[in-house]
Formats: sequence, structure tokens, C-alpha cells
Amino acid sequence: MSGKMMHKELTIGSLIDHAARYHAGGQVVSVETSGELARSSWGEVAANAHRLASALEKLGVARGDRCGTIAWNNRRHLEIYFGVAGGGMICHTMNPRLTPEQLIYIVNHARDRVLFMDRTFLGFAARLGEHFKSVEHYVLMGPRDDEAAAMVPGLLFYDELLETGDADQPWPQISEDTPSSLCYTSGTTGAPKGVQYTHRSTVLHSLAGNQPDGIAISARDTVMPVVPMFHVNAWGVPYIAAATGCKLVLPGPGLDGESLVRLIDGEKVTLALGVPTIWLGLLGALAETGSKAASLERTIVGGSALPPSMIAEFRDRYDTELIHAWGMTETSPLGTLNQLLQKHTGLDAEQQAAIRLCQGRPPFGVELRIVDGEGNVLPEDGKTQGDLQIRGHWIIESYFGADDSALTEDGWFDTGDVATIDPDGYMTIRDRSKDIIKSGGEWISTVELENIAIAHPGIANAAAIAARHPKWDERPVVIAVRAEGQEPSEEEILASYAGKVAKWQVPDRVIFVDDLPLGATGKVMKAKLRETYGDVLIETGAG
Ligand code: AMP
Repeated sequence: MSGKMMHKELTIGSLIDHAARYHAGGQVVSVETSGELARSSWGEVAANAHRLASALEKLGVARGDRCGTIAWNNRRHLEIYFGVAGGGMICHTMNPRLTPEQLIYIVNHARDRVLFMDRTFLGFAARLGEHFKSVEHYVLMGPRDDEAAAMVPGLLFYDELLETGDADQPWPQISEDTPSSLCYTSGTTGAPKGVQYTHRSTVLHSLAGNQPDGIAISARDTVMPVVPMFHVNAWGVPYIAAATGCKLVLPGPGLDGESLVRLIDGEKVTLALGVPTIWLGLLGALAETGSKAASLERTIVGGSALPPSMIAEFRDRYDTELIHAWGMTETSPLGTLNQLLQKHTGLDAEQQAAIRLCQGRPPFGVELRIVDGEGNVLPEDGKTQGDLQIRGHWIIESYFGADDSALTEDGWFDTGDVATIDPDGYMTIRDRSKDIIKSGGEWISTVELENIAIAHPGIANAAAIAARHPKWDERPVVIAVRAEGQEPSEEEILASYAGKVAKWQVPDRVIFVDDLPLGATGKVMKAKLRETYGDVLIETGAG
């Protein structure tokens, strides 16, 4: 029987073309590396993306070649996202906070042919360039700059490069299974591993992640991704933004609370996205400046566990809804988002907040399960915890350059997280499997211990780790940073655990430090803390 629907490939180029056709005047505001505020539009971004693809082709960059970026969230970076992928090349974003050794490893492993850099990172190219074996073209993301030209031989300038391209050149016809971008995991365990996304996985992630129960961006929103464009494609926000034509605010290098408050108030941001550490800084700056962040309707928080006190603080002081999300580089990253169900609408604010604290439910397109050590599927009763596994349209199958599958025999990806799932599908991360504390054979969640410490007004931040113990094998120790002007004692913090966790789960010690060591993606480096404090209970002769 005849009767057929059109088949169109799901491509990243089509997202930006949609923005150009239906939201050409939609604003794209960008903080430049110099700190200056630049205004552009979806129409201009799209034209420049086409110019870039054409210019790269003239430069001899071929389909499938990797183009690296070391850059902040800004307008040129956005154009590179669309121009490189739209042109059939692969946009490889790199985290500038990685160590030089890791960056050298990543550039060589990815075999990047082009390296785009913001002015901030020019020094990298000058210092590390001799180790970047595959890079043929270094491009400074800005206009001509003679001082920079003297630092890196043969340096190209983005604005000049664009002039060699043709804004009317259409995207090449490519299949939706073509790779579009590449992102390496932070490499806290072993060498960083590359995750290569396709046009199809990226478009499906954007469409499914932006449902009303997901990120829910509309054309009426002003969206500020504080999550870096070098961290899992800023959680897909640039693609979602192009699909919806929302106003986009790219905050550039200044991610301190005060700069963010200025942007939120100045540009009337309605939705911002980032990791909890960023929001701790923002809350501090809001209190200091007296701003009420009046335009800010909601924030999406993920990347590490959300301190419970944050939901109430945003809600009560700023009337801002906090949406908790979970994901990882291998999952594009959206795995779950936390929104309420119809049956929760009658609950009071505290009851709702209790539900919203967990990491949430999967959108259409991904599935979750928990398994025990032997791979047996465990019940989703909200109590049984197990290894969290995921599968779906935007989940990794194998790492970049690796022949072997990254999946279990029956086709699931093991996340390395330990979680519970309740009968409604709400997932709660209990720990990273390598961070969890095993005391006398029983598991203690470090997340829970940290939340209790952070809820104490005298504590600004805290991390719970497993310290070796002669009798119990491991016992919890909390490493805490005092809030400014506060002097809580160890006893006081330990006392705050009473009644909140079982007695045997109360930490053995609280150790105060000035700062917690943060990794390249703003997460506390627990392995480093374990190295420093892992033996404190043995050294102090605990028995
Ligand atoms: P990355 O690939 O660097 O984004 O790291 C992914 C890991 O971050 C996950 O496997 C989790 O352990 C952790 N993570 C991400 N989001 C959350 C969250 N909302 N709560 C707790 N942990 C999270």
C-alpha cells in the first residue's frame, strides 16, 4: 500500500536554520573575554555558522575532522558549535581547567586539526603547542591581535576567517548518524575518555529534554547557561535554545556570584542552569547586593547533589523554583529531571520540596534500572539501593577510539552511581560507587551526611569521605568549610546529626578546612580528600 511520510535527517544544522528562519531577531547576548557585553541575534549567529563551515572547508578541513575549542560561553563559541557540526565536522570542546598533561593527551587522542581559543587560553597554545601533534591551525576567537600573533606562529583570527566564508552556502547533506561533537570525561579515574555524540542523539536529547516536565524552555524565556559550553555541551542548552528561539545570555568568563546577579537583573534572565557550587556563590551575592533576582523564575541544578537548604532558600527569598537534574558526559547529559506529578499538586511546600530533592525521573527516550553486584535487577521500592544503569537514544555505546562496547551484555550502560528508584520512577543518587562508605559491611551515603552538615548555618560547604578504620574497615569523616564569620565547633556539628541518621552513621570526626579541592568541573575531589584524610582515624588511634 502506498502512503508514506517524509524522512528528514535529524541534524544540528537544521536547528540553527530554524532559529534563523523563525527567530532571526531573537537576541543572543554574550560577555566577551574582555568583559564587554556584545549583542547579536539568532540570524547573525546562523549566518556566521554557515560562513565558518564554508571557511573551514576552504582551509582544507574535511568532514569528520575534529575541531577543538578551549573557550568560555560566548557568541563565537555558539557559532562554532553550529558551524563545525553543521559542516559535517566534529566540535570537540575542552575543559581548560584540566591539567596540561590531560589537555595534551586529549588533543592528541582526538587528533584535533583545528584549535579555536579564547584570548584567555592563548598561553596554552603558546606553551603546549609543540606537544599538540595533530593541530594545523590555531584560531583566536576574536579580531586580529598583533600581540597574540607574535605569541603563536601562524595564528588565525576568527573574525578574519569568517570573511573568507560564504553565509549562503547550505549545509552538506549528511546522515543523522554522523558524529557531531566530542567531549571527554573529567578523568578522575584513569585517562580521560571521549564520548562522541551524533546529530541524531543531540537532536533527540534536545527535543526530549525540553518537554514541559524537563527543561521547558519557550520562545518567551531568557536563558542563561552558566554550565560551561565545555561541559557536556552546556547540557544541550545551545541546541534547545536554537530550536525554541529563546533569548540567550552567555556569561563569558565571569562566573562569580556578583557578575551573575548583574546579568540576571540586567538581561531579565528567567531560567539559569548550573552546578550547585555556582548557585552557592549566587545566593551569597544576592544576599550581599540586596537583589531579589525578580525575573528569575527557575534554575536547573545538576552535576552534583543539590544541598536541601538551597531549594527553600531560592523558593522563600527569591520565589525561584529549583529543578534538580542528573546526568553525565556519557548520557549527553540528561538522564533525569525532577518535576512533580499530578498527584503531588495538593501537597504543601515542604512535602513537595522533599520529593523535589531527589534527582528525578527520566524523560521519554531513556530508561533506568538498578542492579546488584551480580547484575540482578533490583526492586524499585525507594529503599533498595543498587548500581544505576541507563539506556536510551542519547546514551553512549562505546568510547571514542575504543573497539569494545561500554555496555553490559544486555545493552545497558553502568553509570558508576549507586541509587534507589521509587515506584513512581523517582531516582535518588546515594553515592558514586567509589565514594560510598562501607562501615562494618553496611553502606553509608556520603550525600546524606553532607546535606546535614551544609544545612547547619555555620557551614558553607562539606564533603563526607570514607576514612580507614581498624575495626569497622571504614568510617565517615566530614571535611567542612565554616561559613564566613561563623565558628561552629566539631561537637556542635556532630550533634546536629542526632535523630537525622542512625547512630552508627554519625561521622566520627568533623575536620575544618579553608577550602575543599575542586576538580575541573567544579566537583569536590573526594579522592584527593581521601588521600589527605583517609588515615586520620588510624593516626588518632581510634578503636
Ligand atoms: P560528569 O560526566 O563529569 O558530568 O559526571 C557525572 C557524575 O556526576 C554522575 O555520574 C554523578 O555521580 C554526578 N552527578 C551528576 N548530577 C548529579 C546530581 N544531580 N546529584 C548527584 N550527583 C550527580
